[in-house]
Amino acid sequence: MAGEARDACGVVGIYAPGEDVARLTYYALYALQHRGQEAAGMAISDGQSVVVYKELGLVSQIFDELVLKSLHGKHAIGHTRYSTTGSSSWENAQPTYKSGPVGHLALAHNGNLVNSLDLKRALAEAGGDPTPQRGRMSSTSDTDLVAAHIASSDEADMHSAIRSVLPRLDGAYSFTMMDENRVFGARDPQGFRPLCLGRLPEGGWILASETCALDLLGAEFIRDIEPGELVAIDDDGVHSERFVEARPAACIFEHVYFARPDSALMGQNVYATRYRMGRRLAQEQPAEAELVMPLPDSGVPAAQGFALESGIAYGEGFVKNRYVGRTFIQPTQRMRQQGIRMKLNPLREVIEGRRVVVVDDSIVRGNTTRQVVSMLREAGAREVHIRVSSPPIKWPCFYGIDMPDQDELIAAGGSIDDVQSYIEADSLGYLSHDGMVAATQIPADTFCTACFSSRYPVPIPVEQLRSKQVLEDPSPAPRGHVEWQTEKK
Ligand code: SF4
Repeated sequence: MAGEARDACGVVGIYAPGEDVARLTYYALYALQHRGQEAAGMAISDGQSVVVYKELGLVSQIFDELVLKSLHGKHAIGHTRYSTTGSSSWENAQPTYKSGPVGHLALAHNGNLVNSLDLKRALAEAGGDPTPQRGRMSSTSDTDLVAAHIASSDEADMHSAIRSVLPRLDGAYSFTMMDENRVFGARDPQGFRPLCLGRLPEGGWILASETCALDLLGAEFIRDIEPGELVAIDDDGVHSERFVEARPAACIFEHVYFARPDSALMGQNVYATRYRMGRRLAQEQPAEAELVMPLPDSGVPAAQGFALESGIAYGEGFVKNRYVGRTFIQPTQRMRQQGIRMKLNPLREVIEGRRVVVVDDSIVRGNTTRQVVSMLREAGAREVHIRVSSPPIKWPCFYGIDMPDQDELIAAGGSIDDVQSYIEADSLGYLSHDGMVAATQIPADTFCTACFSSRYPVPIPVEQLRSKQVLEDPSPAPRGHVEWQTEKK
């Protein structure tokens, strides 16, 4: 995968009167850095006002001692953001802030709504403040729209305003929100994106996208926030209500790639799930080789599982430069052609003269895999067999994962043989859909697998499809014919 698809954010909420809430939020954001590396921020309140501090860059670059010491409060929310090229501006960093009749609202969003245009029209008709990004349907404009709807609500208070707006949203959202008095957390009826609740050692509360943020603070995992659940946290504890009936369709890609391996999702440790995916992959797609190696780092657990199941020795065939990030000074054209070499360097001593199996979690465009195969051959590999611990990605995501348009997905337009010849591997094998789901040890009917199966659990309006440059000319689709299906569970 190597960064070809990106998650659209991590969120956190902390309610801990008497503690250094800014510092706790900072550490939680630090643990969620992998969910977004372009911007981060926090909103904090002392019960009187809400202060927002956000900036472009990594969490460790944005917050220093001076900043943290200036942020005081009893509760806070935070956000790490990944944004697509062109929208990487300060205005688009979160939390988003809006004030209105119901008070001061700060909101952090992980996900993507699919009824943005309806929400925008409704807001305009009500005389509200439409999103500043006209015509765009980025997660940023979704977030602005939701905040504007809540802030302009004519309900009696913030809690009621949030409760009234949530059922009008379609698509993916895990929110942390706050006003001067409380922290709120909410998850869409499908539970596309994760959100969990933990208890801090000194008695406060934490909401976070992943359990790894709880671990860093020494917090006890209490439970996942349920799909369709709204929680409000104040001095009296956690108040829970269901604002809509749950229709579970959690993103299976969180288990395959996005979540940190030390997190638990839906009760299952992510590392162990990926390890089982590797074992099943070895059963379904065996290979004759002397070495199994991962594409670091995301392919490591599956490669280890593959090695155990196949009996083939496991080894590290690449050294990864861990410091190549989004803030990396843009390479010159000549250096850009080096591509993946900026991040990965093959170990000739390990590879030379061997038949190698390279395990990766997914193939998106195929360019990275093609370069990996080429590098391994140059380093002396006798044969290169690619094994992928998820099925071919053929459809785009509309629920908060930033994937390329369909015409850029290598598996969308051709057969597995076509992909194999493009990446120039000696063989290519993917894990089956059923094998992937079974490896999670979670019931199949609780997952969204739309990017593999085209079964979209929430219907996608045609405007949104067009925004992904699909269905503009449905016959034929840019890379082969694609049948679109949407189903409401
Ligand atoms: S389409 Fe794929 S990436 Fe998007 S929510 Fe569904 S499983 Fe996850």
